[in-house]
Amino acid sequence: MILLYHLIFPDSTPKDARNAGKIIRLSVFKRHIRWLRSHYEVVSMEDYLKDPDAKRRIVLTFDDGYRETFALISSFLIKNQVPATFFVTTSHLEDGQLLWFVYFNALCFENAYQEIVINEQGYQLTTKKERYKAWRMLIRLARDSGDAVGFSAEFTRNYPLPELITGKYLGLTGEQIAQFGGETMLRLGGHTHRHPFLDQISFRVQMDEMVKNRTLLEELSGKPVRYFAYPGGVYNEEALTAVRQVGFEAACAVKPHHLGADFRFEIPRVDIYSPSLLKLKLKVIGVGNAIQRLRKQNA
Ligand SMILES: [Zn+2]
Repeated sequence: MILLYHLIFPDSTPKDARNAGKIIRLSVFKRHIRWLRSHYEVVSMEDYLKDPDAKRRIVLTFDDGYRETFALISSFLIKNQVPATFFVTTSHLEDGQLLWFVYFNALCFENAYQEIVINEQGYQLTTKKERYKAWRMLIRLARDSGDAVGFSAEFTRNYPLPELITGKYLGLTGEQIAQFGGETMLRLGGHTHRHPFLDQISFRVQMDEMVKNRTLLEELSGKPVRYFAYPGGVYNEEALTAVRQVGFEAACAVKPHHLGADFRFEIPRVDIYSPSLLKLKLKVIGVGNAIQRLRKQNA
């Protein structure tokens, strides 16, 4: 089973702090890992793919590649010999900007603005409820616009965020990506350059997004990047073709759509976005049992 994490925050973050992805603090994350390691074998993507049906194995993946998260957890993972794959975007290396949906997360849940205007309507950003309402509207409009990256860029011009906030959410630095070159526990994976919805762009642009991202990661780290994760778990048949043509050996989804015959390009993952250890246990044990039940039914 492959687990998917996003942001890990420092323990100094208030317990009741929230954002759209929920917040997992460092000490809680370490508790997750300790529990996982005492019940399962944590293996690399490479080892998982050699025998995907092997039981009681967990693969750790982190999407988007946040520099603060990486700075917080990398030495812990290395010291404890916990393998992990980081699926990393690269557009910030060129423009210094947040990914489009990360910007909306920071805009709505950090305290840069009390109110924002979306489609000529004012949205307060004071209570948790108001923040979620504005955030959901922005994500929906971004998706409906057909060009989420462009839609978000327009907001960024009207509502710029201070560096104190963007720094918390920016992608890996070039130096951090270079660190992967000398590392055996931690691996880089492709995640496109700008994190578009792959089903809203042409095959050619899909290829460009993947090639640019992979080339930058390989140049900076000096290592081949063998695996890919579909941004937001969204993909279509053309994206399946593109990942193969670019040369990736496997690709992770979240919920697979079963569009192709080869499971290696639609690997399911379990999204861990809550700090609750109980929820983690339920997900890992529950999903494990459900898979076993399916196997028995099919046998
Ligand atoms: Zn992502």
